[in-house]
Amino acid sequence: MKIELERTAKELGADLFGVADLTVAQDFICKQGGEHLRKFPRAISIGIRLLDAVVDELYRHEDPAVIFTYRGLYNSANSRLDNIALVLAKRIQERGYRAYPIPASQTINVDKNIAAISHKLPANLSGLGWIGKSCLLVTPKFGPRVRFATVLTDEPLETGSPIDAKCNDCRECVDICPVKAFTGVPFDPTEPREARFKAHLCRSYTKRREEKLGEGICGLCVYICPYGRSDKNPPQP
Ligand code: SF4
Ligand code: SF4
Repeated sequence: MKIELERTAKELGADLFGVADLTVAQDFICKQGGEHLRKFPRAISIGIRLLDAVVDELYRHEDPAVIFTYRGLYNSANSRLDNIALVLAKRIQERGYRAYPIPASQTINVDKNIAAISHKLPANLSGLGWIGKSCLLVTPKFGPRVRFATVLTDEPLETGSPIDAKCNDCRECVDICPVKAFTGVPFDPTEPREARFKAHLCRSYTKRREEKLGEGICGLCVYICPYGRSDKNPPQP
């Protein structure tokens, strides 16, 4: 069944597909997204790779032509992911199991900037990548240049295993962030996100950009990660 779902996801445009065992993190998931999520011990993580030609221009992130194009790409990938998640959920339901798609872009708490479940968690647990010092999900092949959606399910699909973080001594995302939102502390599931990421600094920066440029999205931390980037000496903003 897992193979059939993966084939369907990829035919519809997904580049990455993984299945996570959520039982190790269920208390955390329910605390954030609600007790109803405890019914789902598995999650399918699907990812769509962003386009390098668009991401590679983000060093010019003050240019509206660059950031509006990035926003368009971001929205298209999210929309496609939501459609793929719906198709997979319907296939699972047709087999007699329950499936609960989480949209690619969802915020249930604006102050904390969190969704019902972080897509990074199932992507990480399924083995698609690690959580970098940028707090982004970093994949070995495409780096953080990937958007994700999640389908929670009770279908007993075969699961993957997490992979080790490969940030090592790199600090490129920490150094490029214009508001120094990252502390440089590697991901540790026992520590709160605040130990690594001052989300309010990123949020207020993007708000200022929105007022000035009409679009707040920044993306420098996605742009600079050496994983997924082909230019060894990328232009700096
Ligand atoms: S999006 Fe920009 S401001 Fe926000 S954390 Fe990344 S680099 Fe920093
Ligand atoms: S830029 Fe470097 S430190 Fe930041 S997530 Fe990528 S590999 Fe890790």
